[in-house]
Amino acid sequence: MAEKFDVIVVGAGPAGSSAAYTLAKAGLNVIMFERGEYPGAKNVMGGVMYRHQLQEIIPDFIEQGAPFERPIVEQRFWMLDEQSVFQAGYKGLEWAEAPYNNFTVLRAKFDQWFAGKAVEQGALLINETVVTEAIVEDGKVIGVRTDRPDGDVYADIVILADGVNSLLAKQLGFHKELRPDEVALAVMQVINLPSEKIEERFNLEPNQGATIEIFGDSTKGLLGTSFIYTNKESISIGVGTLLSGLMKHQLRPYELLETLKQHPMVRKLIEGGEPKEYLAHLIPEGGYHSIPKLVGHGVMVVGDAAQLVNGIHREGSNLAMASGRLAAETAILAKQVGDYSENMLDTYRMKLMKSFIGQDLKKYKDAAHTLDRHPQYFKEFIPMINRAASEIFTVDGASKWEKQKRILGMVQERGTVNTIRDLYRVWKVMK
Ligand code: FAD
Repeated sequence: MAEKFDVIVVGAGPAGSSAAYTLAKAGLNVIMFERGEYPGAKNVMGGVMYRHQLQEIIPDFIEQGAPFERPIVEQRFWMLDEQSVFQAGYKGLEWAEAPYNNFTVLRAKFDQWFAGKAVEQGALLINETVVTEAIVEDGKVIGVRTDRPDGDVYADIVILADGVNSLLAKQLGFHKELRPDEVALAVMQVINLPSEKIEERFNLEPNQGATIEIFGDSTKGLLGTSFIYTNKESISIGVGTLLSGLMKHQLRPYELLETLKQHPMVRKLIEGGEPKEYLAHLIPEGGYHSIPKLVGHGVMVVGDAAQLVNGIHREGSNLAMASGRLAAETAILAKQVGDYSENMLDTYRMKLMKSFIGQDLKKYKDAAHTLDRHPQYFKEFIPMINRAASEIFTVDGASKWEKQKRILGMVQERGTVNTIRDLYRVWKVMK
């Protein structure tokens, strides 16, 4: 008879390790499978890691040596046109002090550390093992099949933390094949650069980091964003756009990334850097409407596998960690009462939907689809904002009344009613 555990966790990303850590800490017998050579070996992220959700799981994560790159003290937003950029942002030195706000991380390091913490609590981590299917008996998930010889393992509960494609959730009929308008394809590069150069170019002190989120020209007007994040001795730069847009316009993501790297506003920031890694990955972007069935008898789905990404705020890792924790807490309760039914595990779904995860995804439930259906926000508004800024800041002898008139003229050119309708539409989906 194969060994039986309290809980099997599939996938050692932020969602899986968060679940495994919480379960093992509570004394449950937990096994976590990871297909990579080690946790993080195959994982891709910009990546901004969120302090709050990690602290809820490991309060003293700093003392425990969490491998962060730089605490982020500045978040910039760029609306990029071909030869110009309109910028906004916030820099706050309160974020330079412990416990900080957010951090940049390199996932290969962070995921290994996080999974290692789960192991320290007593979780068993099995790397280089693919879970190929869930074992179902009488409609109940009772274990998983792996690609190892004699690879069947049993448990009262299986937590699926296997990332965006979640073949296991699909096998269980929890979700269908993802549509191209529900996922973004992101490509990114890590470019090595000496720390002094990073600090000089981004106006930072040694233990400070900055992020730049870029909209507009970098995705050729398609719905998507680009990013530049500072690590200790490297810069992460990437572009992500909906797969549907890439297919429709026959664009290749690596070409978008190369164009971004050559953009006059970007080129100098990465100049002289040595490309170290090139990565590509899908990001769930369907939001609230794409959340699959989250629980069944003996099974819960967390993180990207549950499509829990807030694309508007580029949050994913924190939703993954929080959902992993909530699923683990439900599993602990279920163990106490010996009830692994769908009804019992639905506590996880209810807590998730009441938490910031459900609330935020509900708030923006129509945002991505609306922006995708109305490309004018990226194609027309961003260039117009750049032109208006150029007009207002160019001193050419025209009075400020005249400047105002010229800017209103730009609005009239594309239609005042249309512009008001567009602004109202975007306000409605973001409010
Ligand atoms: P994953 O991190 O995908 O982990 C899933 C794990 O399961 C992997 O380790 C995988 O190897 C393993 N696995 C899969 N299938 C199996 C199987 N059958 N058997 C065994 N193991 C399996 N989020 C942010 O918060 N901030 C950012 O800055 C950010 N930037 C991003 C930039 C890019 C380019 C991309 C692609 C994503 C970004 N995200 C960001 C999103 C974030 O990476 C994800 O939301 C987060 O990683 C989800 O964690 P997860 O544990 O659910 O899934």
